[in-house]
Amino acid sequence: MLDSLISWLAPHYCLSCGEIGAQICDNCFFDIELVPREQCVLCGGLLVGLQCGVCEDLADVTQIVLAERRDVLERLLNEYKFAYKRAAYRQVARCFDAAAPLFPGATHVVPLPTSSVHIRRRGFDHTRDFSKLFAKLRGYEYTPLLVRRHNKAQVGATAAERKTQASNAFRTKGGLLDSEALYVMCDDIVTTGASIVAAVRCLQDMGAKHVAFLVLMRQV
Ligand SMILES: [Zn+2]
Ligand SMILES: [Zn+2]
Repeated sequence: MLDSLISWLAPHYCLSCGEIGAQICDNCFFDIELVPREQCVLCGGLLVGLQCGVCEDLADVTQIVLAERRDVLERLLNEYKFAYKRAAYRQVARCFDAAAPLFPGATHVVPLPTSSVHIRRRGFDHTRDFSKLFAKLRGYEYTPLLVRRHNKAQVGATAAERKTQASNAFRTKGGLLDSEALYVMCDDIVTTGASIVAAVRCLQDMGAKHVAFLVLMRQV
C-alpha cells in the first residue's frame, strides 16, 4: 500500500528497457539468467549436488548463487547501494523465488546481517527486507538469528587480523536451533565468502545440521 503510493509519487523505470512501472519489468525479468552456479564460492572448484567436496569450511553446506554482478543486476545493486531506492528488495526476493530450489521440510530464512553503518546511511535494512519477502512468498519461516558484532575495522590491519575479524563477525541470538530444520542464509552479493563461512560456523555451533546459503550474485 505504502509502496504503491510511493511508486505513484515517484515512479520507477525499468533498469533494462526504461519502461515506466517496476524497477525490472516483467519482460526484462524473464530475460535474466538465474541458475545456481556450479562453482564453489571459496575454491572455485566444481560443486557436486551444490556442495563442495574440498572446502572444509563449507562441508555439507549447500551453495546457491544465482547470477553474476553484471548488466541489470549490477544496476539493481547500485539502486539501493548508492541511490537508496528501497523498493529494489522486491526484485531480489522475486529472483530468489523464481530460481531457488524448493526446500523440503521446515525451512528458516536467515538474513546475513548488513552492517549498521550501511543501514543508517540508507535508512533501511535491505537484507532484512528481501529475506522477509522471500520467506513470505515461499511460506518459510523468517528467522533473523544472526547479529553482527561491533565492527572494529582497523586502518592498517594485517591480512591475518582482518581474517580473524571476519571469522568473528557474527553471533547468534537465542538458544539452540532445531537440528532437523534447514537454515538458508540470504545475501545479495558474495565476494570472498568470508562472511558466509563465519555465519555457517555460527549456525553450526548453535546446533544447525542443515545449512544452505542463497545469494543473488557473485562479484566478478
Ligand atoms: Zn524492461
Ligand atoms: Zn570449495
